[in-house]
Amino acid sequence: ATPTAIMVGTGLGARRGILFKNATALETSARIDTVVMDKTGTLTKGEPEVTDLIVEHLSELEVLALAAAVERESEHPLAKAIVAHAAQLHAPVLVADSFRNVPGHGAGAVVGAQRVLVGNRRLMIAEGVEPNALSDRRDELAASGRTAVLVAVDGRVVGVIALADAVRPTAAGAVVALHDAGVEVVMLTGDNEATARRIAGQLGIDTVVSEVLPGDKADQIGRLQAAGRKVAMVGDGVNDAPALAKADIGIAIGAGTDVAIETADVVLMRSDPLDVAVALRIGKGTLRKMR
Ligand code: ADP
Ligand code: MG
Repeated sequence: ATPTAIMVGTGLGARRGILFKNATALETSARIDTVVMDKTGTLTKGEPEVTDLIVEHLSELEVLALAAAVERESEHPLAKAIVAHAAQLHAPVLVADSFRNVPGHGAGAVVGAQRVLVGNRRLMIAEGVEPNALSDRRDELAASGRTAVLVAVDGRVVGVIALADAVRPTAAGAVVALHDAGVEVVMLTGDNEATARRIAGQLGIDTVVSEVLPGDKADQIGRLQAAGRKVAMVGDGVNDAPALAKADIGIAIGAGTDVAIETADVVLMRSDPLDVAVALRIGKGTLRKMR
């Protein structure tokens, strides 16, 4: 690589808020044929809001108060949305003991004398909670592209909370730009399959890997590499960091967590998914000048 080509590429990127941390990142960008995108916080804004609450046995405010008591102890974006919604509706503030975070599943705690769980179907199965009519409502909400989590009290499902996270305005355009450049786009997410498929459909992404546990994202990258792919991973979260490191290049969303930004080779300061395509194009331009 000629130093001039590298300098030009780095400068072009910087002007658009695309930071290549080193020359290798710029060169590798030119050879990427597969882009793996995290869903939450990368293709979506990562600012979920509660849209629906369906309850059984308890009142809406009771369910919200119990769920919020657990979620107040959690750092998860879904947790923050649930706590904010409970506060907005002036749900009673209850205190949780023995909080447990179950990565990729949800959380649990003891509230008063009750055992409360908030999380996905997998959490409920792991904790021995029987599915009921509310579980079916959960599936319907998920099919509409919302993330739906269950609330259980003492082993019984008492509520479904649906949350919507708006897709970033340029996400669909980014997929088109990558496809035009001959790059395959894969969505990788811990969210459930129905929600993931719906959002992927909206964005024109045909390959979806859903319900991936936080520890397994890097393995998914490894699998693509073993099949001969040159992979860029785009992510924002703490749980994306191992996958960002494993990929041929890791690209972090600027609005993401410090861990993701530190681990990545490229940082998109404007948090715009379209800049993924621009970064790869700059890489190709640099490579051409090197020949
Ligand atoms: P992502 O890859 O989308 O960032 P995570 O691995 O953080 O997903 O979470 C995957 C799923 O686990 C969520 O969609 C949700 O169903 C459930 N979950 C995780 N943490 C929580 C929580 N604190 N409260 C409720 N549900 C949670
Ligand atoms: Mg994310």
